[in-house]
Parts: sequence; C-alpha cells; structure tokens
Amino acid sequence: MALEHQEKIKCKDCSCEFDITVYESVNGAFDVQAEEKLLKGELFTHICPNCGNVTALSYPMLYHNMDHRFMIHICPAEDDVQECIGNIKSAQKQIDEQFPEKRMEKPYTFRIVSDENALREKAAIFSHGLDDRIIELLKLFFNSTFRMQNPSSASVVDMLFFVGKNGEYAFQIFLEDDTYLVSDIPKHFYTLFKEKYTSACDLLSHGNYVVDGNFAIAVMNVK
Ligand SMILES: [Zn+2]
Repeated sequence: MALEHQEKIKCKDCSCEFDITVYESVNGAFDVQAEEKLLKGELFTHICPNCGNVTALSYPMLYHNMDHRFMIHICPAEDDVQECIGNIKSAQKQIDEQFPEKRMEKPYTFRIVSDENALREKAAIFSHGLDDRIIELLKLFFNSTFRMQNPSSASVVDMLFFVGKNGEYAFQIFLEDDTYLVSDIPKHFYTLFKEKYTSACDLLSHGNYVVDGNFAIAVMNVK
C-alpha cells in the first residue's frame, strides 16, 4: 500500500515554500500514478509552483511490484542501508503472512539501490523476466571490451540497461566527457552468461540485497 505524507520544501531560486508528497513506499498494484511517475523518473523531481524551477530530492523509498514479484528499496545514504534492509524484511514477512499459498511460487527478488535510475533499470530488468546479476556481469564485459576497442576514448562512468522498442537489449554507456552512446547486447550473450555464471551468482546471493559492479567482480573471482 502506498505510504505517503506531505512535506514542505523551499525553492532554491525564488525561496517560495511549497508542499511535496514524500512516499515511504509505492505498491504498483494500488498506486498506479506514483508508479508511473517513478518509472518515468519523475517521482523525485519537484516543480516550484511560483517560478517553475525544478528541485531534485531523493529519499529512502520501497517500491513493490506484485506482478513480477520484486521489491526495490532506494537508499540514497549508506548510513540508512541497515534500516532499508529492516524495511525489506518486514515487507517480506507481511507478504508471507498475507499470501501463504504463494510462498512456493516464484520467489521474490529484493534489492537495495542508491538512486532512482538504478531502480528504473532494475524494474525494467525484472519486468522482462531477466536476471540483474547477469546484467551486471555483462556490464563488466562490455566495459572492458569498450576500453580495448577505444583506448583513446573517455572512460566509462556508468552503464544502464534498457529494453528497446522492438524488445532488443541495450546498454546506454555514459562517458566521462558527458557524452553517451548506445550499445546493443546480442541476446545470445545474455544466455551464454546466464549458463556460465548462474551458479557462481547463487553462491553469493544469499542475504545479499545489493547487486552492482562490486557484486559482478566478486562473482568473477569465485573459483
Ligand atoms: Zn521557485
């Protein structure tokens, strides 16, 4: 269920004070509008009613997708991670109590991410039935391939997975010089990586809510 409250913020431009809605959690099954804003990347941007200036304000928030059985907690500050894990665990307990018959179905996936973009990426991955652990491994591979093929190019600062209009997989690759490029991911790469690395991923997955570049490096080091 969507848990929300109002808070006042002050516009940095004109100092006007206005109310914003702060969501502690968003459940896509019940809170369609908030989910839509979240997945468009608009939930944490607030427009001043007086001057139109946009303020970005991020805060801890739990997103629950019952259709595809996953929960993602945004946790912008490292200090809050333990609290976010606590929120996930109590949400997990609640689901088990409410839907005991579903426990044996596809298990839930739980993740903690630091920002809205990472949440949107993971939501796209899970909604397409894909494994984010394999996507992180593909990022490592694409990053090193990119560096080998473009030794003089600016280095990669971030990569985001997305599914294109025709269902194709791709990475948006952000470079240090503020440019980005798009690289298609051949689907058989995903299949190949999944076959090769799923068991190593499983070894490191128990009780692990953070699946990022460090997770992928740890998987590569599993002997
Ligand atoms: Zn303003």
